[in-house]
Amino acid sequence: MKQQMDKNSIDTRILEELCDAVGRENVFDDIEERVCYSFDATKERSLPDLVIKPHSTEHVSNIVSIANKNSIPICPRGAGTGLSGGSVPIRGGIVLDLKNMDRIIELNARDLTVTVEPGVVTKDLQNEAAKHKLFYPPDPGSARFSTIGGNVAECSGGATGMKYGVTRDYVLALEIVLPDGSIINTGRKTLKSVAGYDLTRFFVGSEGTLGIYTKITLKLLPMPEKLGTIVSYFDDFHDALNTSDSIQIKNRILPRSLEFMDAACLASLKEGLKAAIPEGAKSLLLIDVDGNEKNVTNTIAKIEDICRENNALKCEVAKTAEEREVLWEMIRSVPSSLFKIATMKFNDDFCVPRSKVKDILEKVYGLSRAASVKVAAFGHIGEGHINLNVMYDDGSDKEHSAHTFVSEVLKEVVSIGGTITSEHGVGDAKAEYVKLELTAQEIELMQKLKKLFDPKGIMNPGKIFV
Ligand SMILES: Cc1cc2nc3c(=O)[nH]c(=O)nc-3n(C[C@H](O)[C@H](O)[C@H](O)COP(=O)(O)OP(=O)(O)OC[C@H]3O[C@@H](n4cnc5c(N)ncnc54)[C@H](O)[C@@H]3O)c2cc1C
Repeated sequence: MKQQMDKNSIDTRILEELCDAVGRENVFDDIEERVCYSFDATKERSLPDLVIKPHSTEHVSNIVSIANKNSIPICPRGAGTGLSGGSVPIRGGIVLDLKNMDRIIELNARDLTVTVEPGVVTKDLQNEAAKHKLFYPPDPGSARFSTIGGNVAECSGGATGMKYGVTRDYVLALEIVLPDGSIINTGRKTLKSVAGYDLTRFFVGSEGTLGIYTKITLKLLPMPEKLGTIVSYFDDFHDALNTSDSIQIKNRILPRSLEFMDAACLASLKEGLKAAIPEGAKSLLLIDVDGNEKNVTNTIAKIEDICRENNALKCEVAKTAEEREVLWEMIRSVPSSLFKIATMKFNDDFCVPRSKVKDILEKVYGLSRAASVKVAAFGHIGEGHINLNVMYDDGSDKEHSAHTFVSEVLKEVVSIGGTITSEHGVGDAKAEYVKLELTAQEIELMQKLKKLFDPKGIMNPGKIFV
């Protein structure tokens, strides 16, 4: 971690040049402001030397060229909700806060596209699309705060991924400021385009290490007519997993969302919730389906039957939007309610082939008992995605065991064909585990590509690769 200093270490001449380029009112070097930009949603902490809040592509391009000329690290930042340390400036330098670039530039309902600046909040875009009876499906749990720029940089997923895919599946075109300050445009505002290499996809999920998105064109879908929601509780997680299999595989139903929570999550939730969790519940499935009215009603009834056939303790179908909200609030409350179990938590997201979910959960619980580590698992189980939270008290000797435990779990994940991160990215939190999944040759190739775009290594240094 970078040493904390009261004084920024950027030369006065460079500071003046930056102020001239973007306006003094957008450049901050006071300690109060810098502290606010020294963390994200992980426990990583590191002070930037400067915080700059650009308002336009031209501003971003000017800042980046000055930084490049003077080899100053740049760390792009959206809302700082990242779970892998991506927007923490671990090598100091400039944090570029993109939240002031928050215009929805053009929503074209006939073309089913929308072009936005990177600082638009995900939920605001979803709401704007809904006014036109359109749907922007990617829906991370942080949608009320996270930005589209952050979503694209992490290729965020979310609860709708099962039916609708992840952010990558919606990005059509990008305006990007490269590390030398030049501006490129990738992709087209068309629903298809295969001219040349797919630079758009290459930049999606690049975690702010290759360039800065300044405009993003996304695909929209027609809004489904109706949304149905059902929750089911089980006293054994195996029954919940069998239910998920029966829904997706045996009965060939494709829900919009299929969320899972284990016993530790449910136990942490019990106080102060509007939803009534039945006695003895040790796991939960929350399932959304969408489509036309008749289909949704029939499918929800069918899913209720499947849950009961698989020993559900209780099923509850949401009859109104408010009841639906109460059920989804349970899912959204888990990350914070887990702090009742311990003061620190490492949030590890991984994905395994969906047929291997039972094996990995059994392994996780077995390993955690052996290592006396507290864990809680939830996630988009229909896709094989699991958020594994490893909890320990701050300053306790359990931090080391938690770390060793995570590495054992990730080795296991990779050995059964899974990935060390499915949504949250590598950042610096998971950089040491990349070699579990990628070969030395693959890592070298990626590093060569990084060098091609960013020869001086100024763009979000210290991320993805150790
Ligand atoms: C309670 C909670 C629930 C969450 N649920 C989910 C979930 O369901 N699914 C999921 O995928 N994630 C989830 N997340 C993680 C997080 O919200 C996402 O990774 C989100 O996309 C981060 O967006 P942000 O605007 O906060 O970006 P930041 O955290 O500020 O930055 C994330 C990364 O993007 C880069 N970046 C930001 N803007 C730009 C830009 N314009 N150009 C280039 N790089 C840029 C940063 O450098 C950094 O590497 C959750 C987080 C929390 C706290």
